[in-house]
Amino acid sequence: MTKVARTPLENWIAARIGLKAGQGLTPARLAAWQLARLNETLAHAHANSAFYRDQWGGRAAPRLARLDAVTGLPFTSAEALRRDPLQLLCVSQSAVARVVTLRTSGTTGDPKRIFFTAEDLEATIDFFHHGMSTLVGPGDRVLILLPGELPDSVGDLLQKGLARLGAQGIVHGPVCDPALTLRAIADQRIRCLVGIPVQVLALARHPDGARIGCETLRSVLLSTDYVPDAVATALRESWGCQVFQHYGMTEMGFGGGVACAALSGYHLREADLFFEIVDPVSGQPAGNGRTGEVVVTTLTRRAMPLIRCRTGDLAAWIDAPCPCGTLLRRMAWVRGRRQEARRLADGILLEMRALDEALFALPEVIDYQAALWQADDGDHLRLTLVCARAHEPLASLAAAALSKVPAIRAAAANGSLRVDPPIVEVRLHSVQPATKRMIDDQRNRKYAVN
Ligand SMILES: [Zn+2]
Repeated sequence: MTKVARTPLENWIAARIGLKAGQGLTPARLAAWQLARLNETLAHAHANSAFYRDQWGGRAAPRLARLDAVTGLPFTSAEALRRDPLQLLCVSQSAVARVVTLRTSGTTGDPKRIFFTAEDLEATIDFFHHGMSTLVGPGDRVLILLPGELPDSVGDLLQKGLARLGAQGIVHGPVCDPALTLRAIADQRIRCLVGIPVQVLALARHPDGARIGCETLRSVLLSTDYVPDAVATALRESWGCQVFQHYGMTEMGFGGGVACAALSGYHLREADLFFEIVDPVSGQPAGNGRTGEVVVTTLTRRAMPLIRCRTGDLAAWIDAPCPCGTLLRRMAWVRGRRQEARRLADGILLEMRALDEALFALPEVIDYQAALWQADDGDHLRLTLVCARAHEPLASLAAAALSKVPAIRAAAANGSLRVDPPIVEVRLHSVQPATKRMIDDQRNRKYAVN
């Protein structure tokens, strides 16, 4: 068996926390750094944010004796970042280098606003620099299929990080015309793609996608949305490349964690961020191996420190050591988001991920829309499949695959859900925004049946 290269994040974190050469990183040294930064963050937030002073009942800044005492602090919800984000801003407006406004598709509420100082953004570039060194080296070209037009946008920061390791990041932006993007990959001899899972899948399943070979394209890094196993498998099979995953969100300063060469879970940006996984209902630590909601606390953020920010993402800790030999923790791939599951009659939960695994495993499917609607005979699931080429038996293959999804099978068996015959559309583009895909719940609206 070939030896798996150790994650570059280990040495990077050792240097970031001030360890000298020969002074190895240990869990105790990392925990001591995290605790010191956490207490600084609590003091900074208390001194500068009315929101946090209020959260802590007007008392003095909390000072923790141990890292696990963090569980005694209240969560910060996404709602707080919408309601009055300036209440969380901890520096003067003149010190803010970038504000990111995040709108949630399908809702009309206020957007979230996240603030960063130049120092905060520098920490992200540093993470991208080291995290990407598992995938590419000096001279390699990376096509960035993420937004990057604006200075200090995610694509721009990634490009800057890549430049530090001698690689060339080319900001292409999200895929609008798959044929054009595929031409750019071939013409520019791209070594690595960084993009959104369904968009990269649409490239691989495009009629021109098969021309991209593994002799130039060696790896793909999927980001922005969680990655269904069926999508990662389809990309490996189409292109023969390695499929890496990145976990991040704007609240984490865009970057949170990235796979090592073992490709089995993320190592995290632990000098800057403290991660917890909690039971979504009780809020208590979920424990090793148990899936729960990811909660993040920033340790070095100046503009807008976030303390126990609930992400809505579902993941678990992996107890076993990583094959790469690092002592850093490992988080299993994010498995979806809390908010996107829909409750069927009889309390059965239908998760987006279950549909993803069933439908993206079918040939040619590049996207789909799912909607729950209500008729006199109960709930119906309506699916529109988007496929890159006409594929005759697709509707029947989809119906068969859906009937094997445990939640659908159970709900169909007790008569509380009917699956309408899937509709198939042939087109080369996705049909919905590439992020925040969800099952559209139309059951509170009345629809004419025809
Ligand atoms: Zn590893």
